[in-house]
Amino acid sequence: MERPELSFTLAYIVFCLCFVFTPNEFRSAGLTVQNLFSSWLGREDMGFVQYHIRRTSVTVLVHSALPLGYYMGMCIAAPEINLGYIQQVTTYRVYMALQSECHVTVTESRQHQLSPDSASPAQILTLRVDSINPAVRPFDIRLNSTEYAELREKLNAPIRNSANVVIHQTISELFLETFRVQVDLNQPYTIPSGQEIDPCIGCMQVPASTKLVRLCQTEGADNDSDCQQCFCRPMWCLACLGRWFASRQDQQRPETWLSSRVPCPTCRAKFCILDVCVVH
Ligand SMILES: [Zn+2]
Ligand SMILES: [Zn+2]
Ligand SMILES: [Zn+2]
Repeated sequence: MERPELSFTLAYIVFCLCFVFTPNEFRSAGLTVQNLFSSWLGREDMGFVQYHIRRTSVTVLVHSALPLGYYMGMCIAAPEINLGYIQQVTTYRVYMALQSECHVTVTESRQHQLSPDSASPAQILTLRVDSINPAVRPFDIRLNSTEYAELREKLNAPIRNSANVVIHQTISELFLETFRVQVDLNQPYTIPSGQEIDPCIGCMQVPASTKLVRLCQTEGADNDSDCQQCFCRPMWCLACLGRWFASRQDQQRPETWLSSRVPCPTCRAKFCILDVCVVH
């Protein structure tokens, strides 16, 4: 299997060695600090001391920035799903496959300690995209496991898990499943005819699909519900509203999430999970 990271790392090491020790080939191609910053450095014969103070400082700066250049190159852009295509942009290539022609499979999982102070290591998943179109070569996409649920949702198709990888999702992402099941039990909201549905203002990826209607007071006799009627038109998709709902909760006490109230992200009217209606 091709390893673009490995080729990039090797190519980058060679480039750095050549850039630092500047062989004749690099000199003649003008790939030296002196040449790249010549306009700022000025001329050596006009001011020898100033020229070399500048040259040594800029050399130290550029050489110490080489690892950062490497880091940015290795940062694989998150896969995107746009206009029905799965896209992955890497340092040297852009991969694209039509979503409706794809099978996506989780093939690998790795733990990475992204920063010394983060409590738990990040889980990076590798997913293989196979297209039934023979012209499209299979490719891998990599993402943090916390972004897995979002990808799965945008994909609109099941993702196979060939390696039986246990995917560590955030508690909010796990909560989304429960949120969705609960909301499906509520009565749907039919939009008035002629009213257009805008894209969700949270993700701009899918049409808004929820409307907050104060329904909880009609359940049983207790009218002392703290919920308020929201008069906003449908503006959020279910996933974005679910994430908002989860983000406003006590993160240490997930058992209280389902029964609590949060403000509407737009007008701040309080709502509970019973008030979330799916738009039809
Ligand atoms: Zn959304
Ligand atoms: Zn509102
Ligand atoms: Zn309510």
